[in-house]
Amino acid sequence: MIETGRLGVINPARETPQFTPELLERLVGRVSLFGPGTPHTLYSPFDGKILGVIPLCTPEDVQQAVQRARRAQPAWARVDTRARARIVLRFHDLLLKRQAEILDLTQYETGKARRDAQEELLDSAIVAQFYATRSPGWLRPKRTGGTFVGLTQTWEYRHPVGVVGVISPWNYPLVMAVSEPIPALMAGNAVVLKPDPQTTFTALWVQALMEEAGLPPGLFQIVTGGAEVGEALVATADFIALTGSTPTGRKVARQAGERLIGVSLELGGKNPMLVLEDANLEAAVDGAIHGAFANAGQLCVSLERIYVHEKIFDAFARRFVEKTSALRLGATLDHRSQMGSLTVQRQFDTVLAHVQDAVAKGARVLTGGRPRPDLGPLFFEPTILTEVTPEMRVYNEETFGPVVSLYKFSDVEQVLALINQSEYGLNASVWTKDLGKGRALASRIQAGTVNINESYAAAWASMDATMGGFKASGLGRRHGKEGLYRFTEVQTIAIERFVPVTGPTWLPRGWYGRIVTAALKALKWLSRWWYRV
Ligand code: NAD
Repeated sequence: MIETGRLGVINPARETPQFTPELLERLVGRVSLFGPGTPHTLYSPFDGKILGVIPLCTPEDVQQAVQRARRAQPAWARVDTRARARIVLRFHDLLLKRQAEILDLTQYETGKARRDAQEELLDSAIVAQFYATRSPGWLRPKRTGGTFVGLTQTWEYRHPVGVVGVISPWNYPLVMAVSEPIPALMAGNAVVLKPDPQTTFTALWVQALMEEAGLPPGLFQIVTGGAEVGEALVATADFIALTGSTPTGRKVARQAGERLIGVSLELGGKNPMLVLEDANLEAAVDGAIHGAFANAGQLCVSLERIYVHEKIFDAFARRFVEKTSALRLGATLDHRSQMGSLTVQRQFDTVLAHVQDAVAKGARVLTGGRPRPDLGPLFFEPTILTEVTPEMRVYNEETFGPVVSLYKFSDVEQVLALINQSEYGLNASVWTKDLGKGRALASRIQAGTVNINESYAAAWASMDATMGGFKASGLGRRHGKEGLYRFTEVQTIAIERFVPVTGPTWLPRGWYGRIVTAALKALKWLSRWWYRV
């Protein structure tokens, strides 16, 4: 019998945040608004009190913002890539310097714990440093193989696509305002960002800091609003980078398909964790807690289903429940709280509905399972479920909250089949002391990132490696070279030298055919030798 403990609670001793009402007022003035805008009140999930009022844009505002961005972009594309990098590196320094202010603001907008806001800050700084230092080399024209050796001189040039529309959710507002716009700007584009309305202030703060760092005005604009404003952006921008749910991804892909513009889609997940018999149990439990409850589970790569080998299942479950029950929840601007609030009402409703549906259909709650209005309007306990079956919503649907299901397995092949039957394929986590076996298993999981002996951060923070989803979890990749190249149009420029590639006009076609056939045979042998095939 597993004992459920009592969740640690912190008295909501609310310190004074570092941001001021005057700052919020100034930020509001940065919305790309060409008409009056519709006032929209933002409430903080920390206490349900008003945080501020933002103006919402119309589709016409979006069109004007894109036009303004289009006017600013050509001059930016002519700026040397190292000069662009210096601006981004100045932004990096300012971000670290002003961190207290943005951490407080992000926490107030999202209700997240300090540690989760801090993870955002670190990630944003890493992205800025990474793309500022790597992009100049990656964007240089690249000499390629050409046709027959020496016959042509061929290069690939990378041009900006123009205006990149970035559409983002509310869960990681700082990361979202930095990690897509920076590679897009480094590639010479202008950016129009549409954050989720709930997290508009963080996006505006980032934009203000970029301009303070030296980014020319007009190149990075913020439009506010919901789906309608997002659709207007897809209707006018030259490329769309969307982070959001899979249903939204499908709509955006359809609309972009009509216009034949490129998209990258970072969508949902139902991410599995696989704990093998030989795993380090204590480390796996800590990994499960971090993987399932970081940012109160509102994380695309968060773990929602955990498969544990039958030999260690009971011991794992006992420690997992003990440690989860002892997590400290609360709304604080310091590091006392280990888990914060959910961010938006509709997410809270989904989490509650998933738990209620599972319980009504026979699932057992090992710990948690309840809202905590005593802590804040959208707090929900970290929840572990067991005896979850396929007819329950929580089995296959993304919960995007602090709810995780525990399953026992005995056969690795069967569990791999279960893991891969999901329509999603974003992230996975494998725990074993046998790293060779771990890698072999990881490569058979259909997911864009797999972490061995870690939950999500190892792959996410490997900035040089790509990040994205298989199947319904997305299209395209962020991070790494691909994360930059998606914001470019690639052009091949080839110069013909010595003799025409299609053969000299005086050479009879029959002779030409025989010469080319001999050359192709020689080329095949040369290539096999060179590439060791
Ligand atoms: P959502 O799809 O409802 O909204 C995301 C953004 O898209 C918002 O800005 C929204 O206003 C906009 N939008 C909605 N409909 C649109 C339309 N028809 N056209 C254009 N824009 C539209 O998602 P959400 O509930 O805000 O965020 C949670 C989802 O995001 C989860 O599914 C989560 O897994 C996913 N997510 C994925 C990643 C990733 O990297 N894969 C990261 C974070 C979140």
